[in-house]
Amino acid sequence: MEVRSTTDRRATRAVTLSHPRSPVTVGGGAPVSVQSMTTTKTADVDGTLQQIYALAAAGADIVRCTCNDADAAAGLARIVPRSPVPLVADIHHNHRMGLAALEAGVACLRLNPGNIRRPEHIKAVASEARDRGVPIRIGVNGGSLDPALYRKYGDEVTPEAMVESAKVEMAHFDEVGFHDVKISVKASSVPLMIDAYRLLSEETDAPLHLGVTEAGPLPGGLVKSTAGIGTLLAEGIGDTIRYSLTADPVEEAKAGRLLLEAMGLRERTNVDLIACPSCGRAEIDVIEVARQAQEAFADREIPLQVAVMGCVVNGPGEARDADLGIAAGNKRGHLFVKGQNIAVVPEDEMVGSLVEWADYIVEHGVEA
Ligand code: SF4
Repeated sequence: MEVRSTTDRRATRAVTLSHPRSPVTVGGGAPVSVQSMTTTKTADVDGTLQQIYALAAAGADIVRCTCNDADAAAGLARIVPRSPVPLVADIHHNHRMGLAALEAGVACLRLNPGNIRRPEHIKAVASEARDRGVPIRIGVNGGSLDPALYRKYGDEVTPEAMVESAKVEMAHFDEVGFHDVKISVKASSVPLMIDAYRLLSEETDAPLHLGVTEAGPLPGGLVKSTAGIGTLLAEGIGDTIRYSLTADPVEEAKAGRLLLEAMGLRERTNVDLIACPSCGRAEIDVIEVARQAQEAFADREIPLQVAVMGCVVNGPGEARDADLGIAAGNKRGHLFVKGQNIAVVPEDEMVGSLVEWADYIVEHGVEA
């Protein structure tokens, strides 16, 4: 199956989040990575670790946890050595929590320049991160923009105000010789975040973390995030992504991974199910057969493309081009394996045949 990528990536410098087994490089030509954030109290060590493992299994390369008080920092110190992926500590308001998270051994900090504003506090954290070789994400957020910048730009959150916030933070970092930064300029408005990232990408070669903040519940949150992140990725902008959904964060990790796979920016690890939407021409219950196929392949790590098509209009073409495909006609389906029509199967045996052949291809391989 050919993997076609959407575009060339914009050149950025590399930042590496250290981890004894799974370090992650962001920028510098590294694969675009997927992030998510835990929803547990970080002081709940077992509960948080359980969620981190679930996120990693769903496709998260990096996981962020809040470090909002001393108990959370103490939790992080116990979580870091057992995490399967690099951890980022999310810091707001209290720069001392940044220092505590560094002491806990996190691989990265996220600082919000909108709510840690005293230069001496910012520089204290950056100096400590510099000495420990830990990168920092400058996480500008439209909802918590520095009030002075908000006023400067006419009581409005604008792309220019968000980019200026990031640049002010970078200038503080520069003063202490710290350059290991990633940057995000998230907003809940898709057009605003797209414009902010476009502007930012012209002004820095730091790697960029993309996201539509507070995108909300499914399905709207998925649509907004995909519109914003996907548009930028298609322009070559973005080195790491996070879906911010009001949902189980496992959905964020899955969505991020699926987007990158769909855009040809990461290798597929699971089945790519192609199915027609069905219409009055359909010769089988396409929606039900596709649902069964999705369920049958859900937890299988098989990087194959599988097509379920309802009639002869587009069916034979899509089924032939996929690794495995069903093109329906007259309540039965033509089964294609690597482009060859090898059998005719009744509707109730379609999914079983697809699974059987998927297993066969994985075990024996079949030449196209
Ligand atoms: Fe309709 Fe056939 Fe197209 Fe499916 S493949 S949407 S059944 S015309």
